[in-house]
Amino acid sequence: METDDISQVAVLGAGNMGHGITEVVAMAGYDVVMRDIEDEFVDSGYENIEWSLGKLADGGKIDDPDAVLDRIETTTDLETAVDDADVVIEVAPERMALKKEIYTELDELAPEYAILASNTSSLSITEIASATDREDQVVGTHFFNPPVKMGLVEVIYGEHTADETAEVAYGFAESLGKTPIYVRKDVQGFVVNSVLGPFMTEPAWMVSNDEATVKEADAAMVHQRGYPMGPFELADLTGIDIGYSVREEAGITNPPFIEAKVEAGDLGRKTGKGYYDYEEGDGPDYAEGDGEGFDTLRVEARMVNEAAKLIGGEVATPDAVDTGMRLGAGFSEGPCRRADREGLDSMLDKLETLHEETGEERFQPADYLRALVEDGHTGVEAGAGFYEYDEHGEPVEGR
Ligand code: NAD
Repeated sequence: METDDISQVAVLGAGNMGHGITEVVAMAGYDVVMRDIEDEFVDSGYENIEWSLGKLADGGKIDDPDAVLDRIETTTDLETAVDDADVVIEVAPERMALKKEIYTELDELAPEYAILASNTSSLSITEIASATDREDQVVGTHFFNPPVKMGLVEVIYGEHTADETAEVAYGFAESLGKTPIYVRKDVQGFVVNSVLGPFMTEPAWMVSNDEATVKEADAAMVHQRGYPMGPFELADLTGIDIGYSVREEAGITNPPFIEAKVEAGDLGRKTGKGYYDYEEGDGPDYAEGDGEGFDTLRVEARMVNEAAKLIGGEVATPDAVDTGMRLGAGFSEGPCRRADREGLDSMLDKLETLHEETGEERFQPADYLRALVEDGHTGVEAGAGFYEYDEHGEPVEGR
């Protein structure tokens, strides 16, 4: 199948992400059937789409919301939803047993040529695909929240995903007006959440060890380093328990400071209190000068180390990592570009020093980062780092 052959799409799940993905797909001109397990869920998803299209029309972003709605059908019956689907996007709750059940049924009911795409943010595509007899036609398409606004889609290969399948999924994402990146192995966290991991956890380790405060970390990362939000502010927004469980599932130790918040039930904005107080306080109340003395390099070196692991492991290119972090996490600059400007040797030094001082495995430098530095590829000044540069320090295309 080619991207141009796609006309009929099924979206399984009308929740938070499912209704948004349905809306995006219909806006791009495809006919789409949205399926959930109960009428009330389908209806509420459809109402959310109507509301959102109304807002887009009010803002002059679309001309004809009714024409978009005309392309959307809803059902609670799986067979009706996928009967003639070219692409099925599964957006059901994040539980492996449930996903596998769905894929077993899908394998029976979807046309044999259909591509089966999962929106999972943390589960193994390989394992999901193993519930089918068409593992080569299963792929991850990880949209970001909210799908209507966020420009990134991670296109994730399972172990048996065919290039043709991933290429069609990539072209399909482009046809929706999104920017896809390839994630060539389904490593935990894919690209964006892998690199974002240290941004969220390293400051929490520093607070746990009495080396920093919440305000210092947030102020420094935002005001000195230009991130759109501080790590603690961001965790309050997304839910402290969400990141906590994902790390626990992945076997990543949670810093004690995060654990204590979860145990106390202070989970962020949704409970009125997390790292900041949203009921009795004013929420994030750090000021520009509060970040003085915070070790931002420690956090950034760890993010760069994660990026180097992904690149060295042939999971993603530097460009995919940088695009992912800009569009998926709102970073003003990708970590590989930034590291090339700052110097990869300073990143490596930081990691080595911390590794020696603490013995903590999370500071162990990636082989790929070490190899770049040993080869003299330390960044812009050296003419090469993650990327290559000409004599004016301008990026050379094609690497
Ligand atoms: P949600 O709970 O809001 O929605 C899931 C919906 O799926 C519910 O309406 C539920 O009734 C429905 N459902 C349950 N079983 C189903 C079945 N067999 N067939 C069809 N629908 C079924 O969850 P969500 O936040 O939309 O997340 C869905 C998926 O998207 C998860 O895999 C999640 O990891 C992923 N994701 C979520 C976000 C996010 O920020 N919420 C971002 C990216 C990816």
